[in-house]
Amino acid sequence: MRIGVLAVQGAFAEHIAALKLLGADAFEIRQLRDISQDFDGLVLPGGESTVMNKLLRDLGLFAPLKAKIEAGLPVLGTCAGMILLAKHVEGGIPCFGTLDVTVKRNAYGRQLGSFVCREQFAGQEITMRFIRAPYVESVEHDTEILAEHDGKIVAVRQSNQLAAAFHPELTENTAVYDLFFKSLAKA
Ligand code: GLN
Repeated sequence: MRIGVLAVQGAFAEHIAALKLLGADAFEIRQLRDISQDFDGLVLPGGESTVMNKLLRDLGLFAPLKAKIEAGLPVLGTCAGMILLAKHVEGGIPCFGTLDVTVKRNAYGRQLGSFVCREQFAGQEITMRFIRAPYVESVEHDTEILAEHDGKIVAVRQSNQLAAAFHPELTENTAVYDLFFKSLAKA
């Protein structure tokens, strides 16, 4: 399984390390020529969605990656990565806009927005680490809710797109990656 991790900003190194531990062949996407090779899945990491949004456009990566997601490439977006996928962004500008959700940026407050909790995710309890995280305010169409915390939606799936408001690359549990790998197997 060859997985491209957007590596223009943010927590890409942690995702690459986690993916490699799980046996995936992960590589960095830094510029247009990095996506001329074949790959089976895409990870959009946490970081600053505004910065990544701008860099994606400046580097010419925006249109080809959007086309790949629309064509069904399995994608996992975490935290800022979830914001990049969202169709509507409260407090920010949409990027790919391929995931039928409304997200609220910095939804837990800017300074005190980092915390850890344990919640159900797709049938098992896992540790979730949130860092100045967004949450999903509402979902549309066939978007499936996979996890909630404090009455707010924090993980969703819609066909080839999986998104979490927390950081699975920073905890030991592999439930989010497991689900992502399943979508790779199907694609
Ligand atoms: N606050 C960031 C944003 O809005 C997301 C934080 C994160 O990815 N850890 O882009």
